[in-house]
Amino acid sequence: MDTPVVVALDYPSAAPALDLAAQLSPELCRLKVGKELFTRCGPGLVETLQNQGYEIFLDLKFHDIPNTVAGAVRAAAELGVWMVNVHASGGRRMMEAAAEVLAGMEQKPLLIGVTVLTSMSDQDLAELGYTESAAQRVLRLAALAADCGLDGVVCSALEAPQLRAARGSDFCLVTPGIRLAGDDAGDQRRVVTPADAIARGADYLVVGRSVTGAAEPLAALQRVHAELSN
Ligand code: C5P
Repeated sequence: MDTPVVVALDYPSAAPALDLAAQLSPELCRLKVGKELFTRCGPGLVETLQNQGYEIFLDLKFHDIPNTVAGAVRAAAELGVWMVNVHASGGRRMMEAAAEVLAGMEQKPLLIGVTVLTSMSDQDLAELGYTESAAQRVLRLAALAADCGLDGVVCSALEAPQLRAARGSDFCLVTPGIRLAGDDAGDQRRVVTPADAIARGADYLVVGRSVTGAAEPLAALQRVHAELSN
């Protein structure tokens, strides 16, 4: 299976997540389990989805001291997830510890860095004492993530061309903020279509409400694929 589409299971309980998984197919998408669903349902739900054939992006954005993050990343790998992420702003030693713990493991998830949350503006960063713009900070943290042995970063598709140019073809770019033409952007400020995201250099597309909020989620997922194969 190699599909670029990762559907975000942003649900407060297992029932709607399992209901959606039953309507979709592991041939057409991977699934992302984030903080809300994981905190409510735990690793058991991840295992259930994996037993249905789905590969899971465990989106818990670990950020802590190196030893703690390494332990959490090891636990994610032992759970068998396909992708796991950490905050690049946790710094070199934290990211190196996460990469090192995976180095010796047989089944390694992709280890992805979160650079600057898309909810942060330049003004928010200034308030934290950072002098760089969000765009500069994304490039800096992506370079550091690559240097520490991470496989790639989460980024906006709008940042993807610059990151692809700076980091080359082996660096994995995971992009949320995807909307099918005509869909409501919701709280996302900057959205692109699936085909635009791939054209801009994204490897994986995180799609939430365009699929989960559709009257017919499978049909919406098939529209994403139809757009990508054009
Ligand atoms: O519904 P929508 O397609 O906007 O969902 C996008 C998903 O990607 C959500 O799970 C959201 O938390 C996640 N995400 C994001 N922006 C980031 C990182 C993750 O929208 N920078």
